Amino acid sequence: MKYVIVGAVAGGASAAARLRRLDEKAEIVIFEKGEYISYANCGLPYYIGDVIKERNALFVQTASAFNKRFNIDVRTLTEITNIDAKAKTITAVNQTTGKEYKESYDKLVLSPGADPVRPPLPGITNEGIFTLRNVKDTDYIKSFVQQKKGKKAVIIGAGFIGLEMAENLRDLGMEVSIVEMGKQILAPLDYPIAAIAQQHIRAKGVDLLLDSTVASFEKNSSQIRVNLKSGEAIEADIVLLSIGVKPDTRLAVKAGLKLGEAKGIWVNEYLQTSDPNIYAVGDAIEFTNPIIGKSMNTFLAGPANKQGRICANNMVLGNSHRYHGSINTAIVKIFDMTIATAGTASKHLTSAGIKHLVSTTHNGSHAGYYPGAKQMSIQVAFSPTDGRLLGAQIAGFDGVDKRIDILSSVIKRNSTVYELTEVEHAYAPPYSSAKDPVNIAGFAAENILQKRASVFYWDQFGQIGENDILLDVRTKKEFEAGSIANAINIPLDSIRERMHELDKSKKIYLFCLAGLRGYFAQRILTQNGFDDVVNLSGGYQIWKTCTNEMKCVDNKVNV
Ligand code: FAD
Repeated sequence: MKYVIVGAVAGGASAAARLRRLDEKAEIVIFEKGEYISYANCGLPYYIGDVIKERNALFVQTASAFNKRFNIDVRTLTEITNIDAKAKTITAVNQTTGKEYKESYDKLVLSPGADPVRPPLPGITNEGIFTLRNVKDTDYIKSFVQQKKGKKAVIIGAGFIGLEMAENLRDLGMEVSIVEMGKQILAPLDYPIAAIAQQHIRAKGVDLLLDSTVASFEKNSSQIRVNLKSGEAIEADIVLLSIGVKPDTRLAVKAGLKLGEAKGIWVNEYLQTSDPNIYAVGDAIEFTNPIIGKSMNTFLAGPANKQGRICANNMVLGNSHRYHGSINTAIVKIFDMTIATAGTASKHLTSAGIKHLVSTTHNGSHAGYYPGAKQMSIQVAFSPTDGRLLGAQIAGFDGVDKRIDILSSVIKRNSTVYELTEVEHAYAPPYSSAKDPVNIAGFAAENILQKRASVFYWDQFGQIGENDILLDVRTKKEFEAGSIANAINIPLDSIRERMHELDKSKKIYLFCLAGLRGYFAQRILTQNGFDDVVNLSGGYQIWKTCTNEMKCVDNKVNV
């Protein structure tokens, strides 16, 4: 059996190694158009930022070590330019010699990845405008940054890579602007969690321009002028385009393979393309999202690596190992903050017509009495009928990774918020609380589902009528330090004595700082004959963060 693999990084290298482990006798050839195989794409921003000091640390495997350990014929600097699916051959071009040749296969794996989007804007090909996808890009950017140390960078696009680069360039002492077309950063997130991160980015001295579109680039003697559609311009020494990627389907198209709705390579549940002898994995494919039920691309290393292993199993053992799809579990470090997501955001559930409820809770990363606890905000989206957990997002500073992994596994197993209330976690004061933030997220969601709590959201203040009561149950001191227009104040601890001041026939919108005191107040009122009481999910904190951020965007300011 002869296996040929195109692309030797995340998906391709995983598939090749697994193929060898399953079939010691097979001939395995892997082609890579770049110079390096199996390198750490995910580490590239941190090498540019000098967090990873040694360039060699980026190389998980070298071609010769891979060949030695797995007896795989590794051909780097060799691009595959065509596939003849009928003849079962590929055309390879050696980049060094220019020599073109054909190679036959019995089974082929495509793992060509994705291409950075480079819109045809005037001036986009100027020197100093980069995309970051591979080691070559990294070397260019790093040497450019070293020459320009301490100067100005403009990052176009506030996705995961753009934000990682913003942090790394800022930590190198550069002035950094981020220009993002959307009204928020990180498109997979809902606004409240994105807004928390936005405030943090601004606090770190990054100039964050949301709702801003680039019109063109101009090169003057030493700098690049980034012209925005608004008429404003920003001067930069270096520009990084980070506006997304698209699946690289060029070879698939040449081979006549079927593409899907999301313009990725179509594969079945065994990761087999429309040609039974060709499998495909990684950024280049699309697959049905298990929550929305729609075919989608996933541009993440974890799924690519795992797909590599699954497709190798199917190629050697026959189609027996199903791929179940990715729920896009992702995490990003933004300076000292961590943002993570799993499953589907509320806004995307809404677009897909999927009914759901949302709850936001804030808790300490570990017991408050043990030094160093930091706030963590968790937003969950869940089914109003059976409580199935559909999405979870977290903003915090410590322990975000382990919480998102718990939430991700609950989503992946189609389990519910009821399970969150019982998740058993390892607890000692330095690590968590006896009720972990994940349990608390579950309690709040369960209360909503069981109608013990009723919530409203930060963007629903417009629905509060003249006859309704807006009630702030924080302390007098907190109220006087700043509240929401038209709110009256009855602190939670006086609510039993003072509830006679409230009209039972009116609807009461109440809030506290984080949502917990508001919930307590709601329980007291509803058990004392107040029928229509709703509590602000995520509290004043979320309202303030979101409304501040909206003002920053509308007024194009950075505070
Ligand atoms: P790749 O790993 O991109 O490999 C494709 C390879 O195929 C490339 O090396 C390419 O040169 C080669 N190739 C393409 N066409 C041909 C051809 N015709 N002939 C020969 N070779 C070809 N994901 C995360 O989950 N977490 C992260 O923190 C994270 N950080 C990232 C940071 C950066 C800077 C980048 C660029 C990506 C990051 N990703 C991250 C995404 C992750 O790296 C990708 O999802 C993953 O590498 C996709 O694997 P793949 O095998 O599909 O493609």
